[in-house]
Amino acid sequence: MMKNKIIKTNPLFYFFIVLIFTFTQFSLPCHAAELSEPNILGKHYEIFRDSSKKITIEDLLSGTYDNSFVTSKENYLFFWHTKDTIWLRLDTDEILKDKQESYWLEVTDKLDSIDMYLVKEDGTYSVQKRGISNIDDQNIHYRSNLFQIQDPSVQEIYIKLDGELPLNSISYLFTTDSFINKIIEYKYLTGIFYGFLSALLIYNLFLFFSLKDKAYFYYVLYMFSFILYQATLNSLDIELVRELLPKWYFIKSSAISGNILLLFMILFCKEFLELKKYVPRFHNFGNVLLWITILSLIASFIIPDVMITNNFTTIFAVVVFIFLWLSGIFVLLKGQKMARFYMVGWTVLLGSIIVQALAFLSLIPFHPVIFEEVPAIAAIFESIFLSLALGDKINIIKKEHQEMQQTLNETLEHKVKERTHELERAKIELEKLANTDRLTQIPNRVRLDDVLEEAFEHAQYHEAPFSIILLDIDYFKEVNDEFGHQVGDLVLTNVAEILQNTIREQDTVGRWGGEEFLVICPQTTLDDALKLSEKLRQQLENHQFPVVQRNTSSFGVTSYLDGDTRNTLLSRCDKALYQAKERGRNCVEILIDDANVSSSL
Ligand code: GH3
Ligand code: MG
Ligand code: MG
Repeated sequence: MMKNKIIKTNPLFYFFIVLIFTFTQFSLPCHAAELSEPNILGKHYEIFRDSSKKITIEDLLSGTYDNSFVTSKENYLFFWHTKDTIWLRLDTDEILKDKQESYWLEVTDKLDSIDMYLVKEDGTYSVQKRGISNIDDQNIHYRSNLFQIQDPSVQEIYIKLDGELPLNSISYLFTTDSFINKIIEYKYLTGIFYGFLSALLIYNLFLFFSLKDKAYFYYVLYMFSFILYQATLNSLDIELVRELLPKWYFIKSSAISGNILLLFMILFCKEFLELKKYVPRFHNFGNVLLWITILSLIASFIIPDVMITNNFTTIFAVVVFIFLWLSGIFVLLKGQKMARFYMVGWTVLLGSIIVQALAFLSLIPFHPVIFEEVPAIAAIFESIFLSLALGDKINIIKKEHQEMQQTLNETLEHKVKERTHELERAKIELEKLANTDRLTQIPNRVRLDDVLEEAFEHAQYHEAPFSIILLDIDYFKEVNDEFGHQVGDLVLTNVAEILQNTIREQDTVGRWGGEEFLVICPQTTLDDALKLSEKLRQQLENHQFPVVQRNTSSFGVTSYLDGDTRNTLLSRCDKALYQAKERGRNCVEILIDDANVSSSL
């Protein structure tokens, strides 16, 4: 029950989180309205690519290379991996509105080395060094490179980009006030973003503990690696743990965290889609990709050239994404409904990658949103849908389970019914056996006792008459002696058959013992019993018995009297029979009460 509840609240949980997220987004603009918009510097730059890597600031200040600078056309400069040194130049008259103010210049993203030269009118300059190689030079623990400009005599700014990492300059200029506001906003959004991802992680971790489904565990690992990757992409590693890790890690971190993400992504998808079961060929290919990822991860640690590992990881990621998307399609085509949410999630993520690819190919203009917000939001949606997919899958499995249980129950019920029938039949059979004489197949003494009791009850309650007839085969001992026991048995069965066939429907005939039979006749007067006895006597007399040919029987008849017990009634009947024997056999004697023998035939 508990498990069901967790799964059912799943979509509600996300809805709630998204609601909070949306509200905070709405509350931001009024806060941000006070900000003076930061100045995006891209188009103010003049760019010079130095492939010799030997040119110094002095060379540039001498004016030799003035004609080599080209005005930038892009808001966001992006050079990917290059061996060149990139020089950027800014005219402070153009960008600083009030030279008395203090300004902050922010260059986002990781760079190996970024030097800023603040050149005064007289040609002297000061330098601020940033980037991973000068990581300790920046006092403010912040994810991007910050430069301070507060000297009104600064005329020109030169920025020198160098290193193995992709060279880009997404740079903004802030006044101190607007910069503080930006940091507040940034902390706020970062908190929500990572808070949401962590909630998703913890939530699914609890689900794993509760449901013990391996797919949840892989999802948690995937979520963890996604947080790591996203934090690396946002340079949070530099902001938070720059003292703890060696510098080379920050250079290699995007490839490392990217490969870890791919690793857990493949693991999760393989487990979730049960590729081994549904599309074994994809399962095998998935294993190959898994090994490549592991090798690529190791390579991103040991290969010194970051360009190689970064490029490889980027291309490989596209292959992995397409593979995982196709896997979902194939599993869906196999009729597995659980792949529905999975497909929605992956399609969203793949969509964002396509947008990035279009930007890379310059088919759409480059914008940092494409590389930061779009993949982040897409990944959040993907995470949500994957988590929904997990819940959905568990529900589907549960439903199948219930259906199976139901079929099982139905078969079981059917079997139980069948068994009950069999048992009832066996019971009836047993009762019949217990109540039937083995030799003659007519009721035995046990049964006769029961019928007699019923007759007594009925007679006492309704004050109705009932009679009994006791008969005994004449000279039966002689039959046995003369023809043998088997012939005797044959006679017994013959007699039983004749009696059974002659009595009326309401009467019961049974074997009283030896060669004696008792007929119980409910609602029968003595007269009628007498008539029946005579009829039976004649039938037996006229019957052609096997071997012995003729055989007769003697009859004693009596009726129930008020105050009779079983014993008095039976002994009176027995007496009547005895009298019949006395009279010479093959006749009927009746005894009305213990005093009188009334008549005989
Ligand atoms: P009566 O005319 O006075 O009744 O003479 P009877 O020989 O019939 O009387 P008795 O009671 O002396 O003999 C009954 C015989 O019935 C004795 C016994 O061997 C035989 N008998 C009792 N039960 C069975 C049975 O199941 N099968 C056979 N074959 N004989 C039986
Ligand atoms: Mg006898
Ligand atoms: Mg006899």
